[in-house]
Formats: sequence, C-alpha cells, structure tokens
Amino acid sequence: MLKRYFTLFLVAVLFVPIVSRAETTVAAADFIPGSRTVGLEDNYWETPMDITQTERIWAMLTAPITVVDGHQKEQTVLRKEPRADAEAVADVTYDSQGVHVLETLDNGWSLVEVYSSSFHDSKIKAWNQLTQGYIKTSALKVKKVNQKYGMVIDKLDQRLYIFVDGELYDVLSVSTGLPNERQPYNETRSGEYLIVSPVGDFVSDNVVGEYALRFNDGDFIHQVPYIARGDNKAYEPLEKVLGERASHGCIRVQRKRTPKGTNMRWIWDKLRRNMGTRIIIWEDLQGRSLGMPDAQTPLFYNTQGGKDYHAAEKCYGVRDKYLPLTPFTYGELENAPYSALNACQYCVPPRRLADIEVINQAHRAPRM
Ligand SMILES: [Zn+2]
Repeated sequence: MLKRYFTLFLVAVLFVPIVSRAETTVAAADFIPGSRTVGLEDNYWETPMDITQTERIWAMLTAPITVVDGHQKEQTVLRKEPRADAEAVADVTYDSQGVHVLETLDNGWSLVEVYSSSFHDSKIKAWNQLTQGYIKTSALKVKKVNQKYGMVIDKLDQRLYIFVDGELYDVLSVSTGLPNERQPYNETRSGEYLIVSPVGDFVSDNVVGEYALRFNDGDFIHQVPYIARGDNKAYEPLEKVLGERASHGCIRVQRKRTPKGTNMRWIWDKLRRNMGTRIIIWEDLQGRSLGMPDAQTPLFYNTQGGKDYHAAEKCYGVRDKYLPLTPFTYGELENAPYSALNACQYCVPPRRLADIEVINQAHRAPRM
C-alpha cells in the first residue's frame, strides 16, 4: 500500500501543478459539461471542468445566461421535434435554468440542451439526463448575472468553490443528492442556474434547513440541516457526512466557519438581497478524476491531543489557547502521529490519498 502511495506522490510531484487548498482535476480539458461545442465563448457548456483555470471560470460565471422566460417555480419542456405536439423529452425550469443553444432554426424553434430538471412528480422521468430538444426561440431570454460573486459545485469532490471579483475566494464542503433505486430523482440536477429567491428556513419532517436560496424550482442551496429533538438542534448526524452525497437533491453547505469566516450563513448574508448569482453544477462524469495534492502542501495539528488535521495555522475548530497550530506536510500525513488524525470540518483540508483513490476508482472511465 505504502509503495503504491509513494508512486502516486511521484506522479503528483512530476505532473500535477501545485495548488493550495483544493484537490484539482487532472486532464480536465477533456471534459466539458455539454454534449458538444458550437463555438460559444465563455459558455458554461463549453468550458472545461477545471477549477484551476481561474480566468476562464470567472468569464463563464459572469457571462450572460440564456433561460426560458416564465415563473421561477414553474417548468416547461423540450420537444423531440420542432413542433408543439411533439413528444416532451426534458423538463426545464423557467427563469433560473440555463440552456445551451445548439442551433437556431428558421422556423421559429431552437435546438437546445439541458440536464433535465425532472423531479419526483414529473411526467418525464429523465432524472438529471443531459438531453437535447426543441423549444420556441421566442421563449428564450438572455439575462445578465451578478458580476461580483459566482459559485461552482463539483459533484466529483463534493466541494463548493466561491469566486469573488475574479478570484477563488474559498472552498466549502457540501452534500449533493444521493439517488437510490427507488428515488433516482434525488440526484442533484447538474447544469447552470441563477439564484432567484431567498427562501430562508424550511422544514421537512423533523429536519430543518436554514439560509435556503432557490436556484432550481424545488432545489435550494442551504445550510446543512439539523434534526429537531425537542429544543435541541442536532446538526452532527448530517454534518458528519458533508463531503459525501447525502441529500434529496438540495445542496447542503457547511455551517462551521472556515478560517476566512465563510460558511452558508456568509453566502446568505452576501446574496440574499442580490438575486442573479450564477451557480454551476459539474457532473461527475466517468473518466474525471481528482488530482493528488502536492506532498509539500502545508498542514497543521494541535500537539496537545488534537484529533484533526487542518489546512490553516488558525482554525475556528480549535480553541484559542492551542493556537497557532504546529505545521507538518501532506507528504507526512500517512505517518504516525498524523495517520490517526481526521480531516477538520471547519477548514476543509485536502482529503487523504486513500479517500481520493476511492473517488477516482469509482469514476474510472469505462473500458473501450
Ligand atoms: Zn481546521
């Protein structure tokens, strides 16, 4: 096992650019969200899924978006043929869901593609399926988006990347939807969206989500929910699975503050009065993979009995009297005493190699 990791380290050192904080995608240029490119510049559907390409990501996050004109809590459909009576093949949410315009025909129809926004009660059972279809060109509308903030959620690493003024500002841990055989519609619909309304708190059975912002009809981005037990708010059960799929389709975001003070509350405070921020959701396509963090990446721990490893010298997860924390490197993480430490839930340090490998194995490209 160790030898294998050593080889991985060599690969990491030789080929992977050094990136602080976040794991990165390798050979990301091979993967774009759409089915094909038609030469649209700064377009979500034609921009590689590579979080390290800051300039291209920012251009994509701030470019105008093409949506279908209508009410944000209602949906329309794409048709198999450019005719109003043709079969419906995909659900599209009005006003907030971006569409990829592939062709504008002379007959008043356009060929577009989306990840179908089919929910549990939809007639079309194309759960999160990348689908092409026709829609009336006159129904399409180009909207301007927030020019200060933008967000990317990557299902592959279950991270939220917050961009501010053209830079990657911070990284948070999330849970997107976890589908199962009976509830395939739990999968969070990928694609590009706009935040269109502040929802605030919502209750689902005895589970309460706070700071919810609507971006796709019934899909919200909100704080990791708590389970109400009398007057007690139990965050821990759902908080401990952040960084993995777990929700019914919403995007759960961490409550614990990063060293910069970022969390879902921070997002809520910045965006709730300012609708129109773009949210990008990258699909974890087979063949995509996470890069290995550089062995020299600095990590930190509390020498006096701390149980976590940290990304920063000062972390809200550690009491002041133990700060600043003591440095070591990612390359030492599998050695004692670091091998017993858990990833901190506040500062989101890079995953262990073994955990990265589990994700990459699960997404290996199918054999040709
Ligand atoms: Zn920490």
